[in-house]
Amino acid sequence: MIFIYKVPQVKGFVHKDQFPRPNLNDSLEGEIQAFLTDEDQLHTYDDLTKVNPVTPTTVLKCLQARYNARVFYTHAGCTLVALNPFQPIPDLYSVDVMKEYHCAPQPQELKPHIFIVAEEAYRNVQGQLEPVNQSLVVSGESGAGKTWTSRCLMKYYATVAASSSVVKSQDIVGRIERRVLDSNPIMEAFGNACTLRNNNSSRFGKYIQLQLDRSQLLVGASVQTYLLEKTRVACQPANERNFHIYYQMIKGATDEQRKDWKMPCGQHFVWLPNAEKTVEEDCFHETVEAMVHLGINAERQREIFRILAGILQLGNVNFSPSTDESQPCNLEEQAAELFSIPTEELQLALRVRTLKAGKQSVLKPCSQTECSMRRDCLAKVIYAQLFEWLVAFINNSICADKSMWCNFIGILDVYGFECFQLNNLEQLCINYANEKLQQHFVAHYLRAQQEEYVSEGLQWSFVKYQDNQSCLDLIEGSTVSVFSLLNEESRLNRASDCKMFRVRLEKELCDNVNISWDKFSKVPHFTVAHYAGKVNYQIQGMVEKNKDPVPPELNSLLQKSDNSLLHQIFTDKETDNMTSKGLSKVTVVSKFKNSLESLMKILHTTTPHYTRCIKPNHDCKPLTFKKEEVIMQLEACGIVETIHISAAGFPIRIPFTSFLQRYGLIAKYSNFQSESDCASKYTLSLYLSHCLDSDKHNSWVHCGRTKVFLTQSMVNLLEDQRNKIL
Ligand code: ADP
Ligand code: MG
Repeated sequence: MIFIYKVPQVKGFVHKDQFPRPNLNDSLEGEIQAFLTDEDQLHTYDDLTKVNPVTPTTVLKCLQARYNARVFYTHAGCTLVALNPFQPIPDLYSVDVMKEYHCAPQPQELKPHIFIVAEEAYRNVQGQLEPVNQSLVVSGESGAGKTWTSRCLMKYYATVAASSSVVKSQDIVGRIERRVLDSNPIMEAFGNACTLRNNNSSRFGKYIQLQLDRSQLLVGASVQTYLLEKTRVACQPANERNFHIYYQMIKGATDEQRKDWKMPCGQHFVWLPNAEKTVEEDCFHETVEAMVHLGINAERQREIFRILAGILQLGNVNFSPSTDESQPCNLEEQAAELFSIPTEELQLALRVRTLKAGKQSVLKPCSQTECSMRRDCLAKVIYAQLFEWLVAFINNSICADKSMWCNFIGILDVYGFECFQLNNLEQLCINYANEKLQQHFVAHYLRAQQEEYVSEGLQWSFVKYQDNQSCLDLIEGSTVSVFSLLNEESRLNRASDCKMFRVRLEKELCDNVNISWDKFSKVPHFTVAHYAGKVNYQIQGMVEKNKDPVPPELNSLLQKSDNSLLHQIFTDKETDNMTSKGLSKVTVVSKFKNSLESLMKILHTTTPHYTRCIKPNHDCKPLTFKKEEVIMQLEACGIVETIHISAAGFPIRIPFTSFLQRYGLIAKYSNFQSESDCASKYTLSLYLSHCLDSDKHNSWVHCGRTKVFLTQSMVNLLEDQRNKIL
């Protein structure tokens, strides 16, 4: 637990020594008894820091009032809160609106909008002293609007930073902005799916860097993806669907294509549940068009679709209990043909295991369950490799040469915190990523701000804030942690690994307050106390998922493919990382941890801007605001604490001397004694209160040990006065 200090709301300037000492035992509600904000006016509060007092209830009321007034964006100090309208809002994102925000002298003075965040980052890139890279972190639970927001941000930059505005219309396909935007439909077709929570749920995380040249023009981009949920290709949760691309194929292909892919109309595919459900994203034509724009030619496309169709055929293959009886079925023949591999070899690879005994190899038939596992594994590994290849191809097509760009704006769209009835390794990784991002947020805004106030000797009252370092230590710590134990069990590869994993968790982490067990539960699990709530993780299957083994026979089979794409992606694949048992030396969690660490390193070198997307109701209905659901999301992202800190915050800090250099002249013209009297902190404070009619402006200013701390409106006021004199 760390403590963050909150400045009580005080009008105008008060010198440190005159600052009212807060009662540390006061609750937030107790601090200001009455609800001071006029409820009829709540919807007009464009910054939650202006709500008085700031409590979960008042913040919720304000957001609800705005939502009812069809206002979907609200500042929360340094963060932007975006409520999902779940319906198209005409003209909210038009090019004209983009231009309005882009051209405004002070975009912050316009109505809250995602374009303010976009524009602020864009202006920041060309920093005052030196350019600074920017990161736009978009967070929220599934269906809250992260991907929508990220797309919106990309469109904004593709418009305001277009490098080729004078290019003739026929060249539009070749334009870099177009290509950057076209990466979205492709990645969404292959990486998004219809789930219970969102019809277009991203099943992977994404960080896209938009590359800007010296003149701030968009010259390219690069994408990094995280943890594609590849299990979906072979196993779809009840009432959910496979990846969109499959439904696009069956709904949008020509007869000729269907014939080529061996997908006649009306054929049932086990791995294609809920095909009758049509969503907006079932748009094959758009995906193919984007592929063309990015340079995926017709021949490559055919290879891609035949690989995908081969996977579907695999899904229909069943195995009989006795392997001896099984003959390669028609379906396997079709799959083999689509993968351009010999049928017998596919059959063997699925049904027979090669055991190495010294220099000799022994063939061992697999059980029915093992065969099914190998089939699913084949589908998953092909799909995941294909996705990886696509991302690499996209990067090749949109990434500018390093000599052409000097700065970037990164947009992070990662899966939000997840808590289902049953959670496994995927949720552990996702929630771990969210813990990391939350820590980054706390570190960057809250802690940094607080530490500077303390070192400058400002007086604050305490607000409790949950630091999540101990939870991160529990998950990823290098000595004993969930990840370290999981990796060790995966490496040892023993038959009873789940049992051992459970025993060791309970034994070695018994003193950790962030983890607990329900010893009487039928489903063995452990519970982690995340910053956003407690989550139960099922132990069964976790070690196996972490090992993510690929039978070596499958790898070598695919390398023999005559489909040049399939051949390429499996030949390029690093086989050095594999042990003879088909186990990757790099486990799922260690790979994920590494990629997350590199992401955090990048984020630390940039100026972050946080947008918190909120889902007003779980049914994805327009015009519906469910208080209980929203409050949980506000709590999960610590928004009330953020508002407290921001409300108490003075984003602008100017050392005394610089301050006097710039604003000292106001004193001269205000009949204040003399400029030299301002040398001490005390006189500086008197000087400020004299110069500024602070009651009227209700703005804040504060003197620290070496700096003056100001709000933006106070700076505007000072600038106005200065300009009047000049
Ligand atoms: P997430 O990526 O957070 O899971 P999405 O960005 O996919 O969620 O949003 C889910 C759905 O909500 C979108 O498909 C869209 O229909 C709707 N939506 C989100 N943001 C907006 C918005 N600003 N305006 C209109 N609809 C939106
Ligand atoms: Mg998404």
